[in-house]
This record gives sequence, structure tokens and C-alpha cells, in this order.
Amino acid sequence: MTNDFPTPDAPSPLDRCAANLRVLYDAIVGHQRATGRLPMWLSDLFPRYLDDASVLSCPAAGKNGSANIHDPKMPCNYDYQFAPLPLHRSLKWEQLRTMGTLIPVVRCWHHAESERAILNISYDGGTYRSSGTWERDVEEIKRQLKDASQPMPHLKIPVELKIAWWLLERV
Ligand SMILES: [Zn+2]
Repeated sequence: MTNDFPTPDAPSPLDRCAANLRVLYDAIVGHQRATGRLPMWLSDLFPRYLDDASVLSCPAAGKNGSANIHDPKMPCNYDYQFAPLPLHRSLKWEQLRTMGTLIPVVRCWHHAESERAILNISYDGGTYRSSGTWERDVEEIKRQLKDASQPMPHLKIPVELKIAWWLLERV
């Protein structure tokens, strides 16, 4: 953990990216509280829930970072998992049901300096590193999240998922 998160005097790009993920997460929570649903795109958060559009760009991506890949409205180089894209929104709801709140909500692919190159923030608001295929790293993710302080408030769980989990526990 200490190797992955160095603490020099000036925040590293990774630290600043983690701070961006935190801000994005809080904005998503704000959107969900106000509308009852998750945004379709991260740009939907601006400006009502997110007042600084620069947060949509990872500091490590550089000026020629892969802007506008995952968001049709604004430059954004974060991979929002609940966007209406293949292997995103509908799959994530299914993974939330089957794998729980450790699933990533926003991912950053711009930190290629280690094996676990991807920085993620979970449905519960915890940050962790993983490989591109985080589903293979579940035990490692659990270890990282156990050590992390979980911020409040969290994203709400849809009631139909709570019912599904409740039923599973009673089988
Ligand atoms: Zn980043």
C-alpha cells in the first residue's frame, strides 16, 4: 500500500486522481439523492452536482489524454461503469447483485506504473487498485477495502437488490 500511495510533499498524480474519484463519487451520491437514480454519464453531474469540470480529467492523463472516450458530452477520461455502454451499466447492476458493493463505479486507466494499474472507487466509496479485469482480484480488493476507511454517505442500494439479497440469505 505504501508503495502504491507515496506521500511526498506535493500530492502525486495518483493521489490527485484518488481525490478526483472521491469528488466524482460524492457528486454521484448527490445525483442519486436528488433524482433517485445514477447519472447516465459523468458529464450529467456538471454543473449541478459537480462544479469543477476539471475533475473529469485524471492528472496523470496529460494534455493528450484519451479525452471524450467514455462520455459524449464533455472531455472526460474516467471510465464510468454505469454509462450506457457495452459491459457497463446493465452488467454493473448484475454484478452489484451477485458480487456486492465492492464493484467499481469509476475506474482510471492512466496509472500504468504497476501490475495493478487501475485505480477504482467502489459502490461503497472505497478506493482500490486492481488489474484491468478486477473480477479476478476480488480477494485482493477485499483486503485493500478492509484497510481503507469507508466514507459516508454511500450510494444507496436499489430496494429490489436488497430484496434479492434478503431472499438469498433465507435459502
Ligand atoms: Zn487517474
